[in-house]
Amino acid sequence: MAEELRLLSVHAHADDESITMGGLLATCHDRGIRTANICCTDGKLATIVADDMPEETTRPRLAEIRQAELRAACAILGVDEVHFLGYGDSGMWGEPTNQLADAFWKVDVDEAVGRLVAHIRRFRPHVVVTYDGVGGYGHPDHIQTHRITLLAVEAAHMRSMYADGGEPWRVQKLYYTSIPLSFLKRAAALAKEAGRPAPFGVENPEDLPFVTPDEWITSTVDIRDAVHRKREALVAHHSQIGPDWPLLAIPEAVTIEHFGTEAFQLVISRVPVTLPETDLFAGVTAKEAVAV
Ligand SMILES: [Zn+2]
Repeated sequence: MAEELRLLSVHAHADDESITMGGLLATCHDRGIRTANICCTDGKLATIVADDMPEETTRPRLAEIRQAELRAACAILGVDEVHFLGYGDSGMWGEPTNQLADAFWKVDVDEAVGRLVAHIRRFRPHVVVTYDGVGGYGHPDHIQTHRITLLAVEAAHMRSMYADGGEPWRVQKLYYTSIPLSFLKRAAALAKEAGRPAPFGVENPEDLPFVTPDEWITSTVDIRDAVHRKREALVAHHSQIGPDWPLLAIPEAVTIEHFGTEAFQLVISRVPVTLPETDLFAGVTAKEAVAV
């Protein structure tokens, strides 16, 4: 019997997993790769976009609502495990909420890394995916997610670190989620052609805060078979994502034709790789004994 392959995604809020890598998660499910998603915060400070969710009655329950939305989205994507680290949302960069006592931004990093190390040693992922150093677009919770994931991936295989957190496990490849500039340029051109507003309300895609230069992309995954499920997963995040969300505002066939890939940057590899690649598990060996 073939050894099981496993992928772990670490995200700041419910919805980030579907937006940045919903297609990859569904594609892994189709291949029999076991997946787990970790959500670091409760997301309770996010803007509520749904018309049928009034602020006064929704806000007090938003953390709970977003947990349910994440579980529903992950069920659609075939994610095997959903876990929450339980930290508080920090709100957008520069907001006074960054300083709240329960804000993920103010967390004891060492303690948070320990929680993630325990998850890595228990789930034993071969591949881990998270954000780049600005957390994709500068949200403090995304930056903190980046920090703790990098540290946890490196600490997880060292027996001397977090010694009570389980048997050491070495992750073979670590990736950052990415939206290539060419992808956003194509979206802007198609929107213009169709007489629709520019995606995210920004005319020049280079001005968007979450653009990755194409030359940094190492890995492009074909998600065409998973586009329908990715769209359904986005819809499941009802409090956060409305029908005008760029990927939902266009017909599914157009999405499949023009946006049938997801892009990633390989930043750590413990196995030989040939880049660019189309499979995050390229070069990965299912069996690995580690003890450092
Ligand atoms: Zn987020």
